[in-house]
Amino acid sequence: MIFSGQTLIVNRATLHILNLINLYIMEKPKKFPEQKQNLPGNEFQMKPQPEIIRENYVGSGKLLGKVAFITGGDSGIGRSVAVHFAREGANIAIVYLKEDQDAIETRELIKKEGRECLLLSGDLKDEKFCKAAVKKCHTSFGKINIVVNNAAVQFSTTDFEKVTTAQIQKTFETNIYPYFYITKAALPLLQEGDTIINTSSVTAYRGSEHLIDYASTKGAIVSFTRSLSTMLAEKKIRVNGVAPGPIWTPLIVASFDKIADFGKDNPMKRAGQPSEVAPAYVFLACEDSSYITGQFIHINGGEIVA
Ligand code: NAD
Ligand code: MG
Repeated sequence: MIFSGQTLIVNRATLHILNLINLYIMEKPKKFPEQKQNLPGNEFQMKPQPEIIRENYVGSGKLLGKVAFITGGDSGIGRSVAVHFAREGANIAIVYLKEDQDAIETRELIKKEGRECLLLSGDLKDEKFCKAAVKKCHTSFGKINIVVNNAAVQFSTTDFEKVTTAQIQKTFETNIYPYFYITKAALPLLQEGDTIINTSSVTAYRGSEHLIDYASTKGAIVSFTRSLSTMLAEKKIRVNGVAPGPIWTPLIVASFDKIADFGKDNPMKRAGQPSEVAPAYVFLACEDSSYITGQFIHINGGEIVA
């Protein structure tokens, strides 16, 4: 049993204390020190460190026995999703480009949750790598139940004429092509009740003047999700997505020049933490969302989008 009566009582007392700590000490940062990294960016070098999971997040076996395949799972939102899924009982495979230190740390965090983590380093732009990564996950764990398409790049460019063809290609080849490659490889392995979760962005809904190619790929992800969800509804495989607003991750420090006020332009007037995004992936991955497919959850500090 995960929760004996006694453990539950201890957990409640602990939870109460952690809630107080959360209320009085763990205010989310509203301002950030300027810092610069190159893509893909390292989480271990970020100041302050993103919040991966709330200390008072209690797992309840929502994903017990499941296997999740998460692209971009070494850091940021993907890492947070990986740790939340593990706390909910899942084993995890993460794909990342080359950030070994972050990936190893993620594996350690997952081990601390009592789960296993397979690290798959490579370039998602390469379809052969995508196929091999899905196969490796399947042979290692014997199944795949949840696919989280999440890796991405972005290049901030203020002048439209300076958006080079090479940049457009890299953005599309990284941000949307692998959604096809990974899903095609994983689909024959998925079964009734399994789920696919895609990461779009608030920029898909309201546009972004300095991230026009990136925002376009995020719009494509919305259409991809809606189309696939209809296609797979009868197979009882649900396909949904999350559209984050400004979230404190390596992608931000590695792609923006000025970050002190990152996230200030929304009703909550602050950036979000990965720990505030990942619980939505848990919801979409588990049976709690059994009547939801083709939809997006907007986690953006209160910006209303349609
Ligand atoms: P992140 O840097 O932690 O994650 C992105 C990951 O993508 C990296 O860890 C990297 O390993 C992986 N990646 C990039 N190119 C790759 C390639 N060619 N092959 C394999 N892996 C590759 O940043 P994040 O912000 O957590 O990003 C996760 C998702 O969230 C992205 O889809 C991003 O567009 C989306 N998002 C982020 C924000 C934000 O403010 N941080 C806002 C909206 C949407
Ligand atoms: Mg990373």
